[in-house]
Amino acid sequence: MKFQDLNLIEPIQKALTEKGYLIPSPIQEQAIPVLLKNKDVLGSAQTGTGKTAAFALPILQNLYKEKQSQTHPKRKISTLVLAPTRELALQIYDNFIEYSKYLDINTTVIFGGVKQSNQVKELNRGTDILVATPGRLLDLIQQKIVSLLDVDYLVLDEADRMLDMGFIKDVKRIVKMVKAKRQTMLFSATMPKEIINLANQLLQDPVRIQITPVEETLDVINQSVYFIPKKEKIKLLIHLLKNKELKSVLVFSRTKYGANYIVRDLNQAGIQVSAIHGNKSQSARQKALNAFKNKEIRVLVATDIAARGIDVDDLSHVVNYDLPEVPETYIHRIGRTGRAGRGGVAIAFCSPEQFDLLKAIEKHIDMKIPESKDDKLSLDPSKIVTTPKKNRKKTTNSKSVRTDNTSNRKSNNSSKKKSNNSSNKQTSNSNKNKSTSKDTNKKNYTYSKKKSHKNNSKSRGYSRPSNKQNNRKSR
Ligand code: AMP
Repeated sequence: MKFQDLNLIEPIQKALTEKGYLIPSPIQEQAIPVLLKNKDVLGSAQTGTGKTAAFALPILQNLYKEKQSQTHPKRKISTLVLAPTRELALQIYDNFIEYSKYLDINTTVIFGGVKQSNQVKELNRGTDILVATPGRLLDLIQQKIVSLLDVDYLVLDEADRMLDMGFIKDVKRIVKMVKAKRQTMLFSATMPKEIINLANQLLQDPVRIQITPVEETLDVINQSVYFIPKKEKIKLLIHLLKNKELKSVLVFSRTKYGANYIVRDLNQAGIQVSAIHGNKSQSARQKALNAFKNKEIRVLVATDIAARGIDVDDLSHVVNYDLPEVPETYIHRIGRTGRAGRGGVAIAFCSPEQFDLLKAIEKHIDMKIPESKDDKLSLDPSKIVTTPKKNRKKTTNSKSVRTDNTSNRKSNNSSKKKSNNSSNKQTSNSNKNKSTSKDTNKKNYTYSKKKSHKNNSKSRGYSRPSNKQNNRKSR
């Protein structure tokens, strides 16, 4: 299917062609025809699937047609898009601007953390589409700067994240201010009970669109894990960054302070880097993000909340410097690369105390993340010691829990020989991904089946010792 087959008007098609969109992604293919018919939609899809265009294009087209049918169309907020974070709100805004390049439709974005004066100026000029985070929107409604009385199209994006961030009450308050006769679209990466309940309250007879489970987008991402003591992680990161093939790297830190330390150490090593996290002002975050997007800096360190909604074309690598506490977050993080089926590389650093987190992630994604080895820096998983020093001798015996088969060991050795340093290995992986990404485009975002994960894990031929196993052995 092509965009021409979706009955989109010429000015939109032109903007899409200029943006290089040739083939609609699965969610676009499914959602656009339904939304053009003014039906409500409940979509399970994460950022990276082309979800924004899936709702933005039909909204723009419907608005355009309505305006065409009016003799003196007035600018009024007829579309409200709610997003959990400033970054995502800006992202959606940018997309609306690009898609409406050849339409006389205005979009404005509002979010907290910055002075409201510029946003108010923009609003006073008149807007058709308002993209907002809930807090700032409620503020401006209370000040009677914004009214939602004319909203015909309502989008709730990343509803599960709004729930996580405690915005659901605000969202409900906002929705009550929008007229009942409207078209509503709710998108969420996951569908916990609370989101289903919310959808039942807000949507009328929605068409349910479920894009291949988020886990399956993992197939286009080349994943690996290093076993590395916590204090060695920074050395490993600096070592990996020597490889220029790591062109655009997003590093995830668990805490804001951790992110600052990573930035400090990378700077000391002569690597240009910035951080975005909750303690940074909105303008500092935006500056860092722009520098990263424009490729002025190679490395951006982020915490989860700040990274939500980051959409950087050609993000080559995601580094999980700290493993996330919530397994699902791992998918969101590595989904920053591999956008729209393009492929990318995700590297995780796992220190001994994070082994349980790794196990939980692997269980969640239903695959073993292949181990990356580096002669000097990586630990053999069987040597991970979680017990006191005096028991170490016994613990080392836990090697016996490894069930290496010869062929796997062989492949490990040969891969070591082939590429003595793991960065090269990553590079070739990333190249492999690049070459497949073209095919992926051709195939219109073909995601392979989960089965491949299972095959993948089997072919590794070894199982890692769990902490429990280690402990049992050493007792
Ligand atoms: P989203 O899920 O909306 O955040 O989109 C993820 C990325 O895919 C963004 O960089 C979009 O510009 C891009 N994208 C969305 N739809 C398409 C398409 N049909 N063809 C190529 N790229 C797309």
